[in-house]
Amino acid sequence: MDDYDVVIVGGGVAGLTLAKFLTEKGIPFLLIEEHDDFFRKPCGEGVIRHTMGYDFYDLYESKAGVEKEIWNTAIYTRYGEIEMEMPIVMMDKRRMEEELAKKGKGGEIKMGERVEKIENGILHPQQLKPRLIVGADGAFSMVREYAGVKKPILGMAVEGYSQNIEMDEEKCHIILRDDVVKYGYAWYFPKKEKWNIGIGSQKKKYFKEGFEKFKEKNEEVKEWRGAFVPLDKPTRAYGKNAILIGDAASHVFSAIGAGITPSMIIAKIASDFIEKWAKKDFRDMDFSLFEKEWRRVIGKYLTYSYYTKSIFFSVVRNEYLRHKLLARMCKSTTEYYRRVMKR
Ligand SMILES: Cc1cc2nc3c(=O)[nH]c(=O)nc-3n(C[C@H](O)[C@H](O)[C@H](O)COP(=O)(O)OP(=O)(O)OC[C@H]3O[C@@H](n4cnc5c(N)ncnc54)[C@H](O)[C@@H]3O)c2cc1C
Repeated sequence: MDDYDVVIVGGGVAGLTLAKFLTEKGIPFLLIEEHDDFFRKPCGEGVIRHTMGYDFYDLYESKAGVEKEIWNTAIYTRYGEIEMEMPIVMMDKRRMEEELAKKGKGGEIKMGERVEKIENGILHPQQLKPRLIVGADGAFSMVREYAGVKKPILGMAVEGYSQNIEMDEEKCHIILRDDVVKYGYAWYFPKKEKWNIGIGSQKKKYFKEGFEKFKEKNEEVKEWRGAFVPLDKPTRAYGKNAILIGDAASHVFSAIGAGITPSMIIAKIASDFIEKWAKKDFRDMDFSLFEKEWRRVIGKYLTYSYYTKSIFFSVVRNEYLRHKLLARMCKSTTEYYRRVMKR
């Protein structure tokens, strides 16, 4: 058996960000990714630039794949348009993942290899028994199952590219109407030369209905790519000799389905703990301290986001009341970003 102290399962944004930070700290690791190229998981590619005192550019430390920064989002409901200011960085996510992999070169990144099973701490078929396993293996995490953590509630979303959108290219656009999709929304995000458009819902039945209509309306889109996204409270992020980051632990602002910035923040926190554990040769790792820290920094806000979404879609059934509530929420979000970004 090869001797790796740290094995990261999954090379999406969470696993690759951790790889980048471990490289910076000089901690060896092996990352195993089942696909042999990046960006296999679809995404709207809009990254919340600033949250909980963390700035995306500080976490990413590169401009590779950055296409645009958009400040304004227009949200359309049955009762009108609501404007919100929140900095969104439109990314070429494939380039971003490639760049993170370059920055994570301090460890070994094995592409095109799947972990099929984890039993008694041994990864199969690799026959590895690391001291620490990091589950960055997405919504259907195998590491989460090994750690004995329950599966989060999943929603569904699809995205595709279009060149024919007649909307203001300096704004992100969100359609939040029950006659478009229930329990979800459709988005039109402007990239450099095309639009990333998509639709998602927390309920499978409504997702299917909404997607059929959306597809008809946007028939120029050549390829639709769909995936599941955790829309739950964050789960416990450890068990046995494993910790979880990203979609594996539902590290997503579930009200808006945004998981990139939270995954990167929690990957950073995980790297700080792994550095401490490495200094003690991975003996007596107290995972509860990691759990406490990421919950303090961002976890409680991910939980608020879950309750906001639940109240918004399940309690407030009337679309007019929802419009009013949303207008208030967008106003306070705008004020928050104007204050923290000194705009
Ligand atoms: C359609 C859609 C649009 C979205 N839009 C946005 C958006 O605009 N902004 C935003 O912030 N968030 C968005 N999200 C959510 C965001 O994409 C995710 O939260 C984020 O990418 C999670 O990253 P991750 O690395 O945790 O998981 P993933 O990106 O799912 O990466 C997990 C990786 O693990 C690998 N893997 C899994 N199992 C194994 C195994 N057994 N062995 C080896 N490798 C394995 C997978 O191949 C994958 O590469 C969207 C999600 C969807 C579905």
